[in-house]
Amino acid sequence: MTVHIVNPSHVSFGVGVITPRWLYVLAGATPRHVGDPVLTDETLEPLDPTTITPGDIVGIGIHTGNALRGYEVGVMARRAGATVVYGGIHATLYPDEALELGGAHAVVKGDGDAVWAQVVDDCLRGTPQRMYDGGRVEPEAFVHARWDLLPKNSYMWASVQTVRGCPKHCSFCSVWRTDGQRPRQRTVDAVLEEIVDLRRRGFRFIALADDNFYPVTLEDLQTADRRQDKARFAQLKALRDERFELMARLAKLPKDSVFFTQITMEASEDPSFLEAMKAANIKGALVGVESVTKEGLKDIYKPFNAVGDQLVERLRAFRQHDIHVLGSFIFGLPSDSPSTFDATAALAAKADVTFAQFVMLTPFPGTVDFTAWEKTLDPEKDRIAGIPISRHWLIPQARRPKVYVPHPKMEADEIRARTQAVWDKFYSLPAVWQRSRCVKSLKARLTFVLISKLYRQMYANTGIATDSARVNRSAQWARWIAKPCRRLFAGRPMPDLAMPPAS
Ligand code: SF4
Repeated sequence: MTVHIVNPSHVSFGVGVITPRWLYVLAGATPRHVGDPVLTDETLEPLDPTTITPGDIVGIGIHTGNALRGYEVGVMARRAGATVVYGGIHATLYPDEALELGGAHAVVKGDGDAVWAQVVDDCLRGTPQRMYDGGRVEPEAFVHARWDLLPKNSYMWASVQTVRGCPKHCSFCSVWRTDGQRPRQRTVDAVLEEIVDLRRRGFRFIALADDNFYPVTLEDLQTADRRQDKARFAQLKALRDERFELMARLAKLPKDSVFFTQITMEASEDPSFLEAMKAANIKGALVGVESVTKEGLKDIYKPFNAVGDQLVERLRAFRQHDIHVLGSFIFGLPSDSPSTFDATAALAAKADVTFAQFVMLTPFPGTVDFTAWEKTLDPEKDRIAGIPISRHWLIPQARRPKVYVPHPKMEADEIRARTQAVWDKFYSLPAVWQRSRCVKSLKARLTFVLISKLYRQMYANTGIATDSARVNRSAQWARWIAKPCRRLFAGRPMPDLAMPPAS
């Protein structure tokens, strides 16, 4: 009997940018008495069905984007005689769907860290429950990932989580509803143990795969202080102090370490936090800019972001602390107009954003936007290939619309074409070459160009393009370029590296 854990994907690149952390965490949660689980990340290579034999247990983690492929894998595994279990955000939101369409014997809702061992043992006994509720585990119970199971030479970045949950409530995002608004912050020692483990194995580039690396803002502290809420203030202060302690100890790791994280723009107003990030070698951050207009930010409940010159200033503050910004922008918001696209491209250039992604507004389950959008649809009439549009993830990939929410001023195809044009402009060779001045040597500049092009192929052309030939070409091209790119990220194993001492 073998336990398989599968990360489904309908497209494979041979090499992955970031390790799908949850695979290795679930491997860590698998009881040792069943032996090492077999991990399959289909973003590298598709699952080989012949590896599944009767009596095996197959765990499949799904988010909305890969749910359909996940169901194909589950049906195939069940036919092969395996016990099939689903988990992940999508299975948490739609547990019945996995049972009906994915061949599931069982579904796990919530975090898998604590409950997975029981699920495996129940499956072994042949008595899996239909439904398990893993809840939201406390940070002390977060499982250490099994990095010893990583396939060699397959990923550019490793990933370690330092905090789950986000106190904000953006309308397009499900994180605050699924992971909760209370930041669940891991202890500094637990985070460092994993990071040191990874550096010993030769990973120099590590993503701090958090929902929001800056869970306590200066404004939060001031508000608690103003209200004279001493308990709240002490709690927030303790969380903030722990962040500083983590960064102080990251700063003691070898200087060639490179960390990347995801953070809200508010951190740019906190110079001491930026200084600490710089010292900790956090050299990049995904910042959700989303919209360059006040109306756009209002559309998505993100009033804490800035616009205009203030926005440029805030984004530049990261760069002034040597933190490269991957700016994330959304198109197709109700208040957007044709001019928003050019304004966004201009802002990204002016604000010295090193990388950018331009996504089209998509109502994902679990979000406020989805609930509102679903109410506008007629489940009988609004269908594609017989499937209600409100279950868009079940529509075959090639027939899925690119834009779901009708826009008051623009046709869906106009939004798609204009979004593609902004990607084209931002990642044109002259623009990329110009941005490559952020690194010094010619070799480094050429590397920057290569990585920018790879990023674009992986994320823009495989997602926005309408014609399947273009999607396939992009995936092929990304496959080809990803291998040499990965080598650029490889580090020297440091088996003797010690834990950085407490500050
Ligand atoms: S988009 Fe970012 S800031 Fe907003 S709720 Fe989601 S994780 Fe938090």
